[in-house]
Amino acid sequence: MPTPIVYHLFTASTPFSLRSVKPTKPSLHPRRQCQISASGTRIHGRKLRAAVIGGGPAGSSAAEAMAAGGIQTYLIERAPAGAKPCGGAIPLCMLDEFSVPLDLIDRRVRRMKIISPSNRVVDFGRTLKSHEYIPMLRREVLDSFLRSRAESRGAQIITGLFLGLQLPVSSSDPYVITYTSSSEKTFKTLQVDVVIGADGANSRVAKAIDAGDYTCAIAFQERIRLPEDKMKHYNDLAEMYVGGDVSPDFYAWVFPKCDHVAVGTGTVISKSKIKQFQRSIRSRAGDKIAGGKVVKIEAHPIPEHPRPRRIRDRVALVGDAAGYVTKCSGEGIYFAAKSGRMCGEAVVSASERGERMVTELDLKERYLKKWDSEFSGTFRWLDLVQKVFYGSDQGREALVEMCSDEYVQRMTFQSYLYKKLAKGDPLADIKMGWRTLGSLIRANVVGKEMAKINE
Ligand SMILES: Cc1cc2nc3c(=O)[nH]c(=O)nc-3n(C[C@H](O)[C@H](O)[C@H](O)COP(=O)(O)OP(=O)(O)OC[C@H]3O[C@@H](n4cnc5c(N)ncnc54)[C@H](O)[C@@H]3O)c2cc1C
Repeated sequence: MPTPIVYHLFTASTPFSLRSVKPTKPSLHPRRQCQISASGTRIHGRKLRAAVIGGGPAGSSAAEAMAAGGIQTYLIERAPAGAKPCGGAIPLCMLDEFSVPLDLIDRRVRRMKIISPSNRVVDFGRTLKSHEYIPMLRREVLDSFLRSRAESRGAQIITGLFLGLQLPVSSSDPYVITYTSSSEKTFKTLQVDVVIGADGANSRVAKAIDAGDYTCAIAFQERIRLPEDKMKHYNDLAEMYVGGDVSPDFYAWVFPKCDHVAVGTGTVISKSKIKQFQRSIRSRAGDKIAGGKVVKIEAHPIPEHPRPRRIRDRVALVGDAAGYVTKCSGEGIYFAAKSGRMCGEAVVSASERGERMVTELDLKERYLKKWDSEFSGTFRWLDLVQKVFYGSDQGREALVEMCSDEYVQRMTFQSYLYKKLAKGDPLADIKMGWRTLGSLIRANVVGKEMAKINE
């Protein structure tokens, strides 16, 4: 569930610049290094074969890139008619970058209210330009569009449940995938050279390659159909509530969809109390959603950080399976599509459009390294912001106070909507840094953090 909240927050030209964060270095065991350099050989009489497991934004984008690049591509999705539990908010730049048609958008959010524990309300979208907004889509609509496009570029879509993966013995052996085919109701196998795991937070591909675990938040959401007059209130408005009552470490939201609002919350540290937090967000939203009819209740894990291992030999993880959701904002759709495409393009270029076998080193160099250098700083930064501002109600009050600052708003939205660090004004950045510190001191956050350090 993303909001642009403090996305940029003093990152562009301050000493905390994200650009200074070094990407993680891929580490290889020496024996595996030998195996890797032995492959990369030319394939004869056929093209490179790749299977993508999972047809969400990550999987479809990977499949599209590979099919368009000459790879024989299979996309296995267990539930093409399903709807991923999701807020469906995407950054504006995704429309252009992924050529998403405008008629898929349910709502254009131009006003974003952030509401503090003491119910102080700040309109966070004041600096948006007239053509700027946060597109809100239903996931069933977006996902089926992206999957169809992958198919039109040549990917073969298989409706089936991926069950397991037999690992190859040598660098030229295939992977053998087992799945149940929904149409034929039988177990089937498929031999491929490359596997991309895009099967979300409970990834079976990750398990098959022993990728290691990650911490997950649980997100709970109710879709509530409101009477027409109340729905009007949320026409172009999204709300974000912070407070220990609605979540001890995340935030709660009311997001407008086509004919209903999505009301939800999330937490990592108090999962057993999620229903209590949900009752609290409904009560904080109060009269604005009163009289609404709950049409759907859904819950799903949200990864908190990347997995310890994201590539093993010729298997790569992307999207939620890899752990690409930003803390603090809970944004993952764009990062899923982006990582899927990046990984698919890596396979295309390393295999010379399907003519050569790819290697682990290829995937590490062309996908993982590129991904980490572009995004790992953003992820670490938002991790830090969450720790400072979401840990206590004082921190949350400070966050809301800061969000009333027009400069914070402008820089945050620029970074969120366009996924580029907005060019800051050094003087304004310094002023903002002081104001931030002031907010934290007033909220007694700095004193408490110092006390913890001195303990
Ligand atoms: C309640 C909630 C609200 C959210 N709101 C937002 C938001 O507003 N904006 C945002 O950017 N992010 C949001 N997120 C995060 C976002 O939903 C994910 O980051 C994003 O969906 C990741 O895309 P993906 O393609 O990696 O995985 P998924 O979208 O989870 O897709 C995985 C696909 O794999 C398929 N699959 C899984 N296992 C198998 C198998 N064994 N065999 C075959 N297929 C399989 C699934 O059916 C699914 O289609 C939210 C998350 C939650 C839980």
